[in-house]
Amino acid sequence: MKAIAVDRERNGGARLVDVPVPRVADVPDGRGVLVRVLRVGVDGTDKEILAGEYGSPPPGDEYLITGHESFGVVEAVGPAVRSVAPGDYVVATVRRPGSSPYDAIGTYDMTTDDQYFERGINLCHGYLAEYYVDDEEYVVRVPAELRDAGVLLEPMSVVEKGIAQAYEIQRRLRIWRPRSAFVLGAGTIGLLATLVLRLRGLEVHTFARDATPNPNATRVERLGATYHATAKRSFRDQAADLAPPDVIFEATGYSPLVFDAMDLLGKNGVLVLSSVTGGSRTVEVPADRINLGFVLGNKVMVGTVNANREYFEAGVRDFALAAATWPRWAQELITHRVQGLESHDELLRLLREGHDVIKVVCEVATLP
Ligand code: BGC
Ligand code: ZN
Repeated sequence: MKAIAVDRERNGGARLVDVPVPRVADVPDGRGVLVRVLRVGVDGTDKEILAGEYGSPPPGDEYLITGHESFGVVEAVGPAVRSVAPGDYVVATVRRPGSSPYDAIGTYDMTTDDQYFERGINLCHGYLAEYYVDDEEYVVRVPAELRDAGVLLEPMSVVEKGIAQAYEIQRRLRIWRPRSAFVLGAGTIGLLATLVLRLRGLEVHTFARDATPNPNATRVERLGATYHATAKRSFRDQAADLAPPDVIFEATGYSPLVFDAMDLLGKNGVLVLSSVTGGSRTVEVPADRINLGFVLGNKVMVGTVNANREYFEAGVRDFALAAATWPRWAQELITHRVQGLESHDELLRLLREGHDVIKVVCEVATLP
């Protein structure tokens, strides 16, 4: 079968490789699920991988099969599999367990290991292939009614985890009735965070660079949230006109904003950080004021990465609620499609220079 791969030597960008079709029996104890890949989404992480700046192949392999945002249909299952059956639509989680106690209890997204095993990213092959096989534990069923948004479940799971962690942490307050949230960034993660926080009934203010009108401002407003363009007036200045929020979800990829967010967060509030920033930027910050605000205001800040299956399942439930509340909103985040695994150069081009891109997907096969 064909797959999109990046060489260990990282010179030629992506290329097609021909590899054997995996088999159900590749997974021990009859727990294998063979999935025919229908669609795969790509994101900033893939851009870095395709450019040879991030990720690594499995030990002993000369290339990494890329793609971590999967959507497919079950083709065959091993004798012990109970939760999915041939013909079911499914997505697969990304991280695979290492050796920490968190990995051992299924919360591999909370691993304390130094090494991450992530399909399509680090040390494990991904989903930009005609088929993949995996243990039932990592395969999550998606109802057919949600198939058009199914490929968004991986980024959705990252948002679900961040927000679930925030609510879990806030149980410290005994009674927590959050009223308002700021979301920083209106990429896929920022938009999905706006969605999930609106589904929780919060007043949401989403801050992003682009001046209005623009498609993301329209998406945000359709959810009943408020879009704030920061191109002309900074986040800090605009936030000063609003009540300090109970939640801030940071998803811009621009780390200096974290310190503004710490400063502007309301008392007893929670700040969720989700940007993976590989650079080495430094900034000067009003350290005493930020620290004092955190101490006197009992504030908390949490970093969040990846997601285990429980958050994929939460994503399925929220997509169902979203489909009933704002029909087609989620699937319309898929702004660009390329046809077939052969189109890997086009995929990379769209990631690098596409206009008004939210989610680019590769249509690996036609939806049955
Ligand atoms: C993926 C996560 C992953 C992270 C770090 C993100 O793009 O969505 O699943 O943990 O990259 O590799
Ligand atoms: Zn992703």
